[in-house]
Amino acid sequence: MKKTVVWLRRDFRLSDNPAISHALEQSDQVILFYIHAPHEEHPWQPGAASSWWLHQSLSTFRRQVRIKQGELIVRQGDSLQSLIEICTETGAEAVCWNRLYEPVIARRDRKIKQELEKLGIRAIDFAGALLREPDEVLKEDGEVYRVYTPFSKRHASLAPPEPPLDEPGHLPTPYPVPKSLHIEELELVDRIQWHSQFTGEWQPGEKGAQHRIQSFSEHAALDYGHHRDIPNLEGVSRLSPHLHFGEVSPRQVWLHVRSGDNQMYDPPDMSPFWPYLRQLIWRDFAHHLLYYHPAMSDRPLDPMYEDFVWDCNPKLLEKWQNGQTGIPLVDAGMRQLWHTGWMHNRVRMIVASVLSKNGLVHWLEGARWFWDTLVDADLANNSMGWQWVAGCGPDAAPYFRIFSPRSQGQRFDPDGEYIRRWVPELSAIPIQYIHEPWTWPDSNSILNKLNYPMPALDLKQTRYRALDRHQEARQAWIKSR
Ligand SMILES: Cc1cc2nc3c(=O)[nH]c(=O)nc-3n(C[C@H](O)[C@H](O)[C@H](O)COP(=O)(O)OP(=O)(O)OC[C@H]3O[C@@H](n4cnc5c(N)ncnc54)[C@H](O)[C@@H]3O)c2cc1C
Repeated sequence: MKKTVVWLRRDFRLSDNPAISHALEQSDQVILFYIHAPHEEHPWQPGAASSWWLHQSLSTFRRQVRIKQGELIVRQGDSLQSLIEICTETGAEAVCWNRLYEPVIARRDRKIKQELEKLGIRAIDFAGALLREPDEVLKEDGEVYRVYTPFSKRHASLAPPEPPLDEPGHLPTPYPVPKSLHIEELELVDRIQWHSQFTGEWQPGEKGAQHRIQSFSEHAALDYGHHRDIPNLEGVSRLSPHLHFGEVSPRQVWLHVRSGDNQMYDPPDMSPFWPYLRQLIWRDFAHHLLYYHPAMSDRPLDPMYEDFVWDCNPKLLEKWQNGQTGIPLVDAGMRQLWHTGWMHNRVRMIVASVLSKNGLVHWLEGARWFWDTLVDADLANNSMGWQWVAGCGPDAAPYFRIFSPRSQGQRFDPDGEYIRRWVPELSAIPIQYIHEPWTWPDSNSILNKLNYPMPALDLKQTRYRALDRHQEARQAWIKSR
């Protein structure tokens, strides 16, 4: 009997899963295998909120697999060793998996492939986590794009994604079933105390992802371009954690959304859904960038910022983390993050700008907090997002772009609904003061009574300070050339 191990990592879905489909085609029995390897060398170990999601995702996936008469085998330890052991125990001749692109993981996987093949075990990997592979979207001369617009043009000019693969009807598993850990034994949820709040907010797993796509396509996809920046509206898909954990593939999302325009508009940038589709291309862009620039998660992509002098301001960082900066839109975002494990994209940009530009706190401090508290924490998207806002990324917001919480608030939360929802202390504040309550006459004593702080930063003065610091750094860099 031919047996194949499917090594699952961040692809907890049965439909459109190339590794599972291949294993079922090539063998009589499949062993669905997850290895928890927290001790393997990776500077960015999963954060607390995404570990909560992983726990839910594994549990849901296991239930789904059992419905198909299969089993998910869970082990803990070194990846290569665990793969060799499961192949020896079951007599499997091959291991297959879907590729991941984070440089540390990609390097480890290449090594594992070589080692397995030395032992006579076939190792086959597949594309499934992105719309396009990193080598598919390159400039004509083979160079890597560093700017989003030409990248997206090239991306959109490629042939449409292939139709997704069907969900298997049955998952034949060897008997006796190989031993497995209980998911609780991985102790993924013990690290966080606040996860009970997430439960009502999310439905981790493939079914949850499909519900989200369905409801987004029916109610919001067509208006995405108009509503995507309004944080108090259900205008975005909230698919990011599902995409990160591979509970849905990006091509499933792309094709589902595009099915609404009957594919009449080809190429995709002519589609009424283009504002949404281009976000999926941003996701590819971030992953390709990290793949080709492995240091991007820790060092500025723009070399001009290598010696940039950041301030050490633990007090500000703590206020920012706790949603107690006294800047309503920032506090609303940081509290949304704490309560739901997610923050709206527009507000992510604003909170990141206030910390890294007005506060001149190193973007890595903010990136680390996001990493620990976001259920969608994703190394490529997070690093690119922070570098973009801090001004040191490849396709960065220009250094002089410093988001003003007041004008952003007036534009995207004009009635202050988002602020009142997440900062209830301010619910009775008159609308003209909601974005800057400190400008209210006698604000000091009123805010004191409301138990809301005065602002931790003078936004105007820190804006000038940031501009000066950036200009000095740029001049020094140019002089040193
Ligand atoms: C400072 C900062 C940090 C960020 N950290 C993360 C992170 O850790 N994980 C993460 O998934 N996204 C991150 N983003 C990108 C973006 O904010 C989220 O992907 C988005 O808010 C998720 O919500 P959604 O699924 O409703 O997005 P939608 O607007 O519905 O977009 C659909 C999908 O497209 C992708 N996408 C959208 N915007 C971006 C973007 N700017 N860059 C890359 N992909 C994008 C996501 O996979 C998203 O699920 C960050 C952005 C900033 C500014």
